[in-house]
Amino acid sequence: MEKEKRSVYKNVQMQFKKAADLMKLDPDIQKILSSTQNEIVVHFPVIMDDGSLEMFTGYRVQHNNVLGPYKGGLRFHPAVEIEEVRALATWMTWKSAIANIPFGGAKGGIHIDPDKYTTDELQRITRRFTFALGNNIGPEYDIPAPDVNTNAQIMAWILDTYLATMPPQDRQRSIHVVTGKPIEAGGSIGRGKATGQGVVFTIEEWSKDNDFDLGSATYFVQGFGNVGSWAARLLKPHGSKLIAVEDISGAIANPEGIDADELTEYVEKNRVIAGYPKAEAIDHETFLKTKADIFIPSALENQITAETAPMLDVKLVAEGANGPTDPDGDKVLQEKGIAVIPDILCNAGGVIVSYFEWLQNKRSEYWDIEEVDEKLYKKIVDAYKRVRDTAKEFDTDWRTAAYIVALAHLEVVYKERGIFP
Ligand code: GLU
Repeated sequence: MEKEKRSVYKNVQMQFKKAADLMKLDPDIQKILSSTQNEIVVHFPVIMDDGSLEMFTGYRVQHNNVLGPYKGGLRFHPAVEIEEVRALATWMTWKSAIANIPFGGAKGGIHIDPDKYTTDELQRITRRFTFALGNNIGPEYDIPAPDVNTNAQIMAWILDTYLATMPPQDRQRSIHVVTGKPIEAGGSIGRGKATGQGVVFTIEEWSKDNDFDLGSATYFVQGFGNVGSWAARLLKPHGSKLIAVEDISGAIANPEGIDADELTEYVEKNRVIAGYPKAEAIDHETFLKTKADIFIPSALENQITAETAPMLDVKLVAEGANGPTDPDGDKVLQEKGIAVIPDILCNAGGVIVSYFEWLQNKRSEYWDIEEVDEKLYKKIVDAYKRVRDTAKEFDTDWRTAAYIVALAHLEVVYKERGIFP
């Protein structure tokens, strides 16, 4: 998982070009969508626990807002840099367009290894970053959410800092400035598991379409954070067997099955999967070569490449992560006949339930879990069917089909609205 990174933004541009050419996207609209709209880079000082001062760099890239306010997560990771954030912001535009939710695309983050800081320091870093972003975010303008290494607690600090900078009479009507908040602070029930739940809903649909029995299926998961652990846990009731897991600490396997709930409890206590007693440690290559039905990459970008894709021995790759497969990796998967549920469809459950949270905040409502799950199911399955049918119509791979669904939607809106002035 530590391999040198190709530019993920280049990957996005290659994926985009392939779909745009195939669907004959209007060349002017191609020009517009090939570029991001705004790129905010902030450098800000924070006092550490020992009294010393450190400078940090944070980003917010806003790719497009023709369908609605900019929307997307914030990640805290040492690999965060402008090209990566551009790619992630662009994927958010496609994701919202495919899911048919009224949001645009954005992404941001801080170039930081959060493990090196105390909770108090992380709180000050988060608050100072929020302050530095100022009115570049806002409840009807650009709405952050959790991503890699950020969570509901971090969203609560962003919320509190943002509200503290507003006139008192505007505070209560601005809590939808972030989603993925703790439930008590205005978050939605079901947002925590939403991305993993969406991954599992798409896998269920794929299984129905392919007469594939999830009850006897095996799967393995890369990344055991929010997305990976929820996807693993939510597949368990189907009777599918989790046989290997990898995270930053290494990989583990057990052909008899790893209990996803027990592993989640272990990770809650120990932070990583290493040392989990009911599995064997294996190396990265052995992990990738796991013979199974389904692989769920749920960590970082560029994991399935020309070098690693030949090692995969699965029927389906369900992309919980953003950008886990690069264009060379995609070619290999196609040659090997491995099906792919692409990231911008597969992991859209997170932003879909973020939309539900945003709506609940605006209407001062609290929906129950049945309502959230039912609405998520409907949205993501509709999106799944649009992508599946478009792949057939254009006789192309599912990633390209997912792009075509998104681009066709954006093209209509641009044509209706025209270009100012
Ligand atoms: N970070 C998540 C994603 O990549 C969720 C974004 C959101 O809810 O706005 O889709």
